[in-house]
Amino acid sequence: MINRKSQALASVLNNEGITNEKVLHTIASIPRQLFLPAALAHKAYENTALPIGQGQTISQPYTVAKMTELLLDKVDSNASVLEIGTGSGYQTAVLANIFSKVFSVERIKSLQFQAKRRLNQLDLHNVKMKHGDGWQGWSSKAPFDAIIVTAAASEVPNALLEQLNINGRLVIPVGSRSQELKCIDKHDNDDFLNNTVESVNFVPLVAGEVI
Ligand code: SAH
Repeated sequence: MINRKSQALASVLNNEGITNEKVLHTIASIPRQLFLPAALAHKAYENTALPIGQGQTISQPYTVAKMTELLLDKVDSNASVLEIGTGSGYQTAVLANIFSKVFSVERIKSLQFQAKRRLNQLDLHNVKMKHGDGWQGWSSKAPFDAIIVTAAASEVPNALLEQLNINGRLVIPVGSRSQELKCIDKHDNDDFLNNTVESVNFVPLVAGEVI
């Protein structure tokens, strides 16, 4: 379903430098208002991050598109993708429209519950979700062709590097107050190529206890 507002958002992202047709088409087809509290629905198609409760945010559409584009530059749509930080489920829905298998880990149970409901509503059934600590990845489903982290890590979690397939790609924001989006390609078990893409602004990837 393409609606006028999500189509307009896709055009804005195109003007901001997103060129991958699959990504633009997917953004144009997902009703972002479904992923927001009703009181913020009127802002759903603005290119901004917005609060989703529990001190968390739905990512900025540009960043969602950029990170997805980075994955598609490296792996094809048959890929098995791990997402850390389900949040609202919007990035999850974008991934599920593009990739055949998506796994998503979230530490806040209530957010995970709502995200699951939204994905069902959109008939996206190729997503498995886990309530847990994303620093640990999801070892029983590994290896993954691509991993995307949607919260800023103080350092790159080792478990994620281990759970990445050879020739796979990890896209992750790293840093605390000032953060950079990193694109890490696994050439071999001990051979990684690390590129910095651009500055970003995410909530932190919290360590330890799940709630
Ligand atoms: N992609 C999401 C981003 C949500 S914000 C969206 O666009 O809606 C980041 C999310 O990461 C939050 O929901 C937060 O609870 C979650 N998070 C933070 N630390 C985590 C951890 N260690 N493990 C799993 N999820 C985590």
